[in-house]
Amino acid sequence: MTGGTRQETGGRDALRVVVVGAGITGLLAAIRCVLAGYRVVLLERGPIPNPGSTSFDQHRALRALVAGDPAATNRASRLHARWHELDSLLCDHLTGAHLYRRVGVLTALPPGDAASALATAEAAGLSIRTADPADYPHIGFPADAAVVLEPHAGVLLADRILHAAARWLRHHPLADLRPGREVVGVRPESGRVLLACGAVESGDVALVAAGPWSAALMDLPVTLHCQTMVYLRPPAELVHRWAATPIAGGIGADGRAWLLPSVAGTLVKISTDAVRREVATLSGPSDEAHWATRVLRAGIVTEADRYTTARVRHCHYSTAAGGDTGFVRVGPAVWARPASGGDGFRSAPQAVEAVVDAIGRELAA
Ligand SMILES: Cc1cc2nc3c(=O)[nH]c(=O)nc-3n(C[C@H](O)[C@H](O)[C@H](O)COP(=O)(O)OP(=O)(O)OC[C@H]3O[C@@H](n4cnc5c(N)ncnc54)[C@H](O)[C@@H]3O)c2cc1C
Repeated sequence: MTGGTRQETGGRDALRVVVVGAGITGLLAAIRCVLAGYRVVLLERGPIPNPGSTSFDQHRALRALVAGDPAATNRASRLHARWHELDSLLCDHLTGAHLYRRVGVLTALPPGDAASALATAEAAGLSIRTADPADYPHIGFPADAAVVLEPHAGVLLADRILHAAARWLRHHPLADLRPGREVVGVRPESGRVLLACGAVESGDVALVAAGPWSAALMDLPVTLHCQTMVYLRPPAELVHRWAATPIAGGIGADGRAWLLPSVAGTLVKISTDAVRREVATLSGPSDEAHWATRVLRAGIVTEADRYTTARVRHCHYSTAAGGDTGFVRVGPAVWARPASGGDGFRSAPQAVEAVVDAIGRELAA
């Protein structure tokens, strides 16, 4: 990366950043860069946002409690402030429709683990309390589970956030959004980005935010995971109950399942870690019905046969050894986020802030 004398004003000399991928990481990186005064070119192989991206879903959970790990809990609890700021920046100011809804998260634990979860929360300064599973008769809890409620957690309306971020960027003079541009190579030394059409995009810095596809683009070691989610339409008499239900984890007969409720008109989404599998490629599974049936039989909602299965989706994410979910430097002019992980949506603001701050420090040096 070149630096030193470059201006950060957005003028002709402003740093030029090429961002690859318009999922949550790429869109928030683009926003943070233009707010820093940099010019941004955002390259995306599909539309912006792309319904085929990992990030494009009704909702993603934003929760902080990591039982047994006060430091991680404290770090995650700071994300609420980040998302509130983003909500203020991106929400529809005409309708006041917010993109982050604080509905809380229920976590079911083996009875002996509740005290330790409460101690973790207290050590991290996070407010949680015990809850009564009987108050949620429509959720399938494991027998004898102890349940805690994290009231400050909530739902990020993911696809609406992506649309809002794209809309915000489209109106920003420093941002240049380019859908339909497939990147086939990135040169770590120079930051030059090669496109499938044969064109070359040159910036001072390239940020590769191509989700689980980043690793192949940059030849970085990651583990790929595939998960199956089932979207349920509740029976009419339960619609109001589901609209006021928190997110829930540690549920189902074996305590490995989770659900996101129908907040803001979304469908109820259910899945279980029992169907999360490591895969070698990013293609969809050939036995789709088998995975959906396993989710539906996991005991996640009670009286499951009263619900309509509206949709089934298989989705990928990637992890790295050591669990790092931030950007890694791949060359003097290139950074990538190849392993955003199973919590990569909620943590995207922190990952983006860290890399854009690092770029700013080099520029100032
Ligand atoms: C089932 C499931 C549930 C999850 N639940 C949660 C949750 O509750 N909370 C949470 O925080 N996280 C959750 N995650 C993880 C989270 O969704 C991801 O970590 C995050 O969305 C990744 O965002 P991203 O922008 O890095 O990648 P993506 O959203 O995949 O975006 C990458 C973009 O790059 C584009 N692209 C790829 N290759 C190229 C190329 N060669 N040229 C140009 N463009 C390219 C793609 O089209 C895509 O638009 C979940 C993930 C899964 C699979």
